[in-house]
Amino acid sequence: MIIVGAGLAGLSAGYYARMNGYRAQIFEHHSKPGGVAASWDRQGYAIDGGIHFLMGCRSGQPIFELYRELGVVESEADIIPMSTYGRALDQRDGRAVVATRDLGRLVDDLASVSPRDRGSLEKLIGAARALQGLDMASAGLERPPELMSGREKLKQMWGLRGAGRYFSGQWVRPVSEFTKDLHDPWVRWVIDNLFLPEVPVWFVAALLGLLADGQLGMPARGSRGIVAGMQSRYLERDGEVTFGATVEEILTDHGRAVGVRLADGSIHRSDAVISAADGRSTIFTLLRGRFLDRRVAERYEKWALFRPMVLIHLGVARDFPDDPPLTMVRLDKPIDIGSESIQGMFIRLFNYAPGFAPVGRSLVQVELETDWDHWNLLHAEPHAYQAEKDRVLAEVLVRLEAVYPGVSSQVDMTDVATPYTTWRYTLNHRGAYEAFLPTPETITTAVDRTLPGLQGFFMAGQWVMPGGGVPPALFSGRHAVELLCHWDGRPFVRSRTE
Ligand SMILES: Cc1cc2nc3c(=O)[nH]c(=O)nc-3n(C[C@H](O)[C@H](O)[C@H](O)COP(=O)(O)OP(=O)(O)OC[C@H]3O[C@@H](n4cnc5c(N)ncnc54)[C@H](O)[C@@H]3O)c2cc1C
Repeated sequence: MIIVGAGLAGLSAGYYARMNGYRAQIFEHHSKPGGVAASWDRQGYAIDGGIHFLMGCRSGQPIFELYRELGVVESEADIIPMSTYGRALDQRDGRAVVATRDLGRLVDDLASVSPRDRGSLEKLIGAARALQGLDMASAGLERPPELMSGREKLKQMWGLRGAGRYFSGQWVRPVSEFTKDLHDPWVRWVIDNLFLPEVPVWFVAALLGLLADGQLGMPARGSRGIVAGMQSRYLERDGEVTFGATVEEILTDHGRAVGVRLADGSIHRSDAVISAADGRSTIFTLLRGRFLDRRVAERYEKWALFRPMVLIHLGVARDFPDDPPLTMVRLDKPIDIGSESIQGMFIRLFNYAPGFAPVGRSLVQVELETDWDHWNLLHAEPHAYQAEKDRVLAEVLVRLEAVYPGVSSQVDMTDVATPYTTWRYTLNHRGAYEAFLPTPETITTAVDRTLPGLQGFFMAGQWVMPGGGVPPALFSGRHAVELLCHWDGRPFVRSRTE
C-alpha cells in the first residue's frame, strides 16, 4: 500500500500495515518525518515546535500500551507526569494563579479574586472530579466506529455511564458560553485559556480531571524522540519511506485507488492508498474533488480551523528552576499583527528534561495566535516578511522582560516560525496545525475515513479526528489499516503480542 505523509498518523498506519503483512511505502513531502510534531536544531538548541503534553502516563492503560507498541515511549520514564499545568498571569495588574493537581486550590485562588464566581468554579471542578479516571485519550477509539457492532457500542456507553450526565445539557456548551456567566474578566480569561474557548465545557473538566489524576505528562524525549521512536519501529519492520516526495495526485481507476503520481512526475502503483496528509488537499486536490458528498463538502466549507501560530523560540543563558513549564500571559499592551490585536501570549519553558538546551541554558517558546492571510501575503516579499518577523520578535522580548526580568540580555538564539512556515513544511491548510477546531459539534462527529464512490482508499490523521492530537492521530492510523483488513477479509493484528 501507499501512505501519503509521514506524520504520526502516517507512521502509525505504516507500522500496522507491516504488522498485518502489507508491503508499505510512505511518501513524505518534507525532508524528515513528524509533520507538525516538528523539531529542528539551531545553535546548539534542540527546538521543539510540536507536542506539549501527552494524555495517559501509566503502563497498563490502552493508550500507554499503544504508545509503547508504536515506539512513542519505551517506558514510563519517557513521560514526566505534570504536577503543574501552568500559571496564568495578568500583566495589567500582576494577578497570577497556578493550576496544579490540587483543583481545590485553583478554585480558592480564583475565588479569592472573585468571590461571586466561586459557585460556577466549584461546579466546573465538581465535573472535573467526576470525570477523574475517565480514559479520555482512548475512549471510543479502540476500534474504528465503522466496524463496531451495536453490542460493542452499548458496552462503550456502559463504560461511560458514571460520566454520562457530563456529555449533555450545559456541559456540551462551548467554554466561552460557560464563562459568560462569570463576573470577573480575569477569571473568565483564565478559564477560557485553560485550553480553547471553543471546546465543550466537559472537555476542560476532563482535562483538569486528568491533571488531578496524574494522567497528563510531558514527553521527556520531546517530539524528536517520539518521531524517531516511531520511525524506527516502522523501519525495523521493513517499511519503506521516501522523503522530499510530494504526492500531486492519487490515481484512481473505475472507482478504486490504484497509486499516486509525485511532483517529479513518477507514478507508483499500489493496491490501496491511505492518505494521512492534509484533508482538504487530499480530497479537493489529490483526488480532484471527484469523490464527495454534501456532508464531506460542508465540513470543509463550514467547520472552523485551529487558528495558526507564530512560534518564537529563544535560547537563553540561564535556568528557570522555580518557574512552571507554561505561563499564559494576558498582555497589558496587545501585539498588533496584520489586522489583529493579540491579547495573550503563551510561554513554555523546555526545562523539564535535559536535551533541549546546553547545560546552564534554556529553550523558551512563545506562542501567539495569529492570522494566516497576513503572513501568507507577506512571504511573497522576503524583505518585508523578515522585517515583520524581526518586529514581532522585538515586541515579544519587551513583554517577556516583564515576566522574567533580565531575560532579553541573556538571549543567544532566536528562531521565528510563522503560519506560512507550518504550511511550507506540512501543507496543512492555512497553517491549521491541528486541523478542525474541537467544537461541541465537531468533537463528537465520527468522520468517515472513506470517501463515497472510492474503494481501496482510507484517510487517517487529524483531519478525520476533529481536534487532532497525538492519541487520535495514532489511533486513526491503526483504524485505517483495520478497515483495510476488513475490506480485504483478513483478521487484524493489533499488537506484537497477539
Ligand atoms: C505546537 C504544537 C503543539 C501541540 N501540542 C500537542 C499536545 O500537547 N498534545 C497532543 O496530543 N497534540 C499536540 N499537538 C497536535 C499533534 O502534534 C498533531 O495533532 C499530530 O501530530 C497530527 O499528526 P498527523 O499525522 O495527523 O498530521 P501531520 O503532522 O500534519 O502530518 C501530515 C504529513 O503529511 C505530509 N504531507 C502533506 N501533504 C502531502 C503530500 N501531498 N505528499 C506527501 N506528504 C504530504 C506532511 O508533510 C506531514 O508530514 C500539537 C501540535 C503543535 C503544532
